[in-house]
Amino acid sequence: MLYNSTRDNAVKVTSAEAITRGISADGGLFVPESFPQLSKDCIAALCKKDYIGRAKEILSLYLTDYTEEEIDYCVNGAYQKGKFGSEDVAHLVKTDETTGILELWHGPTCAFKDMALQLLPYLLTTAVKKTCKGEEIVILVATSGDTGKAALEGFKDVEGTKIMVFYPEEGVSSMQKRQMCTQEGENVCVCAIKGNFDDAQTGVKKIFTDPRIGGILAQNGMKFSSANSINWGRLVPQVVYYVSAYCDMVTSGTIKLGDRINIVVPTGNFGNILAAYYAYKMGLPVNRLICASNKNNVLTDFIATGEYDRNRDFYTTISPSMDILISSNLERLIYDLSGGDSDYVRDIMSKLNTDGCYKVTGDIFNKLSALFAGGCCDDVQTKLTIREMFDGGYLCDTHTAVGIKVYKDYLAQTGDKTPTVIASTASPYKFCDSVLDALGKNNPEMGEFDKVDELFRVSGLPIPQALESLKAKPIRFSKSCTGEEMEKAVLSGFLEIGG
Ligand SMILES: *Cc1c(COP(=O)(O)O)cnc(C)c1O
Repeated sequence: MLYNSTRDNAVKVTSAEAITRGISADGGLFVPESFPQLSKDCIAALCKKDYIGRAKEILSLYLTDYTEEEIDYCVNGAYQKGKFGSEDVAHLVKTDETTGILELWHGPTCAFKDMALQLLPYLLTTAVKKTCKGEEIVILVATSGDTGKAALEGFKDVEGTKIMVFYPEEGVSSMQKRQMCTQEGENVCVCAIKGNFDDAQTGVKKIFTDPRIGGILAQNGMKFSSANSINWGRLVPQVVYYVSAYCDMVTSGTIKLGDRINIVVPTGNFGNILAAYYAYKMGLPVNRLICASNKNNVLTDFIATGEYDRNRDFYTTISPSMDILISSNLERLIYDLSGGDSDYVRDIMSKLNTDGCYKVTGDIFNKLSALFAGGCCDDVQTKLTIREMFDGGYLCDTHTAVGIKVYKDYLAQTGDKTPTVIASTASPYKFCDSVLDALGKNNPEMGEFDKVDELFRVSGLPIPQALESLKAKPIRFSKSCTGEEMEKAVLSGFLEIGG
């Protein structure tokens, strides 16, 4: 299996190269040149395996340049016992006859990003052994809150790597900020950005493809890679849990093998829902993919009209990990819907860069609207949904609530009774303030960890140990910089950390 760039089909690299490089030199994203197919028999066989077994099967279809031993080592390490709480790793909670909530946040940082970012360091260090000549890998991350922490935790003290994370100063929850600023490890560095996530992501992409900076790093024996969801090594682990959730629905009798399901995903950078799309492309029986957004609803409009227009106000919401106007991974979807037309993708991405908008029409738009449904909701509706779900016996975080609300609207509009999986992307304890607000239990006098205790008192949901232990950890990182200063911060950061 080789990988093309979405902006140049002449580019063909192995999966190890795609994972080490992160992004193609032309600014495009790496995509598999074809999708391996999961037959009915194959899905039946996966149903008999546990999560680790399913992950090994699916990864080996894509990472054909990794040996079986290498895949075993990577997957066993990432999902070893104890890391994700329950043994099923991605826990499917049935909330009614046909709906399951797929809790993807039982990993070490309490957000779904762990599902991929616990595995990526293994995939990357294995890839580096195949493709590089002893260079140190330096990872640059732009985060809307959860990726940063999950990447830091995944890469901390991993030999041969350094990692630097940029987060929007005013755009993350206080727990997310605390998680990052107390990060342990000798090879890590964290910096706030005076701006929003898009500013951080644009800055990182620019530095990443700047040959001058690449040159300076090379002189110092370093090489860039990315832990953002533009990295193929982030996406392939995410395909696994959709297939696995399908298998769990079959084994629990919610559906029969071959029945179709809907998948609802609270969306920001379009990575998680793209993984669901790739599962569909592999033959997983999917009816609709439902893309849920908060008030930053650029994707809702895109799915409804084919027009992507980022020229609009940016809102800071109570679901901050979805506060994004430029969803990077949409590029991969459009590449696929266009039949792999890299010239077309290059044109519209350059339009996005210069005009901030583009429009897909005809066949591409028809394929998009046949499979995808989109919806959005604001903070008031998000809180109402948290309250309603809690009254029904289920506590969810703000992002998951956006997904649930958009799904309820979809049901009301379509009456579509297809069994449905809703991706639950974070622990409610990461967003205590907003969740307590929703439950009418907040009090401005309470400190951050009082709120954690209060949410436990109200809900009885066990407090994740990883969050509770932050209380005693000192703040290690408190620097901030502007978008223009990022370049300098990166160079000094990487040349200084870890000696
Ligand atoms: C990252 C994140 C999202 C958005 O996922 P994308 O892959 O960027 O679309 C949603 N919810 C939470 C809690 C997240 O951390």
